[in-house]
Amino acid sequence: AEFRLSDFEKLRVLGHGNGGTVYKVRHRRTAAVYALKVVHTDAALRRQVYREVDILRRAADSNHVVRFHAVVPTPSGDVAVLLEHMDGGSLDTLLRRRGCRPFSEPAVAAIARQALLGLAELHSRNIVHRDIKPANLLINAAGEVKIADFGVGKVLRRSLDPCDSYVGTCAYMSPERFDPESHGGDYDPYAADVWSLGLAVLELHRGHFPLLPEGARPDWATLMVAICFGEAAQAVTERAASGEFRGFIECCLQKESGKRWSVAELLGHPFVAGADGAESERALQDLLREDSDES
Ligand code: ATP
Ligand code: MG
Repeated sequence: AEFRLSDFEKLRVLGHGNGGTVYKVRHRRTAAVYALKVVHTDAALRRQVYREVDILRRAADSNHVVRFHAVVPTPSGDVAVLLEHMDGGSLDTLLRRRGCRPFSEPAVAAIARQALLGLAELHSRNIVHRDIKPANLLINAAGEVKIADFGVGKVLRRSLDPCDSYVGTCAYMSPERFDPESHGGDYDPYAADVWSLGLAVLELHRGHFPLLPEGARPDWATLMVAICFGEAAQAVTERAASGEFRGFIECCLQKESGKRWSVAELLGHPFVAGADGAESERALQDLLREDSDES
């Protein structure tokens, strides 16, 4: 179906990002609710949005990637991308709405498993996300977790250029991305997504960004030192955690990218392998319910 901007009623703002705003909208005729990501574009940004759309289209049959519906033309020339509305919002807003109270371990396991399934769907299509973090993982009332925001994602064609300029959120970047030279042609963008996922999962378990003291607003240099010279995997010891969880985080946060587990391997890890049963379901529902109790 062809959509026009006037077919939709804006309900509220869901989030802001670089150069864009995401609205909750309702289709007037069908009353269906969507998320509409509007990017105020110059030519360079427009290319970026179309790259994001291209990736979303390629992943259209994925159960753990936010569903893409259409590009909606706007009178102003901005690009508007119509997406499935994820009514639980992003995991970082969920965490904040709970006053940064850590998620329960079963909830973390269920989230990690679903995010890994999303990454598996992407990686099997040669797509790297490059900006995995809690703000880009969305959840809905059914307890489904999906990957969003392919603003800096990339479809790899044959070999990867290690000098490829990327953008992403520094805080979740793997050590080799700070220092690509020392890794030469071995730079593995799939492994970089695994690092970011491990850090995001650890953040949900801890309640704050795990590599820095709570509440710190770091500069680039502090972050780089924490990531490249700190022992990320050890941050897990600061809160009581099961052996499975520790093991899982260690597999994700290996500083040497070659030692990190792949997404396929991680899906078999005991921490996540069973995290799709009734207990997981309940843990996610608790998370969503506690949230609505308090807001
Ligand atoms: P970029 O990082 O490329 O600049 P962005 O951060 O501007 O992108 P998104 O991450 O896609 O854009 O969206 C920003 C925020 O809007 C998200 O963190 C989330 O809170 C909210 N949001 C985005 N898409 C949806 C959706 N489909 N359903 C619900 N909320 C969404
Ligand atoms: Mg984002």
